Amino acid sequence: MEKKFPEGMTPLGDAPFRFACHPGVACFTRCCRKLDLFLYPYDILRLKKRLNIGSEEFLNQYAGVVQGANPFFPSVIMRMAENADHTCPFLDPATGCTVYEDRPSSCRMYPLERAVDRSPSQGRPTEYYFLTNHPYCLGHQETKEWIVRDWLRDQQLVYYNAMDDLWAEMDTIFAGNPWQGEGAAGPRQLLAFMVCYNVDRFRQYVNDHNLLARFTIDKARKRAIATDDEALLKFGFDWLKYILAAKPTLLPKG
Ligand code: SF4
Ligand code: SF4
Repeated sequence: MEKKFPEGMTPLGDAPFRFACHPGVACFTRCCRKLDLFLYPYDILRLKKRLNIGSEEFLNQYAGVVQGANPFFPSVIMRMAENADHTCPFLDPATGCTVYEDRPSSCRMYPLERAVDRSPSQGRPTEYYFLTNHPYCLGHQETKEWIVRDWLRDQQLVYYNAMDDLWAEMDTIFAGNPWQGEGAAGPRQLLAFMVCYNVDRFRQYVNDHNLLARFTIDKARKRAIATDDEALLKFGFDWLKYILAAKPTLLPKG
């Protein structure tokens, strides 16, 4: 059955679109202010590594916790600077983004929007891309042409999307209110928040509770988890699915 979209929203498919963003556009950096810029777990891994700080320090210094679309789990957004323009803390008005190589996925995706249809009738999840067009953004008047596939590659979005899809699975589980009556900010929800957004604290938790020893995990994965934040985050997602949704993502010992 052909997928229906809200009026005015037509997926791009393989259609070309025009866009370029560079210091020569008159609106340069205009979009990096007064943003509700949602940060996903992988965004935080990249940014804290880039800044060479811990995840807790990143959260304290650059993030805010808000109630987003999920009624049973908070969202994390970038805290805008306390200046007149409320600019992104990583914006240099003259040169642009100071964390460009590690900018969040929302910044990479613009001017596209991505929607993923995970309904069982679709079989495999199907992704759709739409072109946004804010009147102030003059990048649409540039002559450079793209198709979605090339844009994703250029912005290194293939990997970001894969990590964000893992996060979306978690968000779906959280939206089912798996907190067993504890309510908001109960112990389970706090644990889940730590796993998703505070990877350094989660590493400490894994070590303190000897968590890896409780499951059959091959040596290569254990080694990766011990040193690599992405591997730890993926383990954390598996662990949350196991304890909150009883999914067979990990094999307990004994
Ligand atoms: S408004 Fe558009 S063209 Fe201007 S800086 Fe932002 S993304 Fe680039
Ligand atoms: S992270 Fe970079 S691209 Fe994104 S809003 Fe901030 S300055 Fe702009």
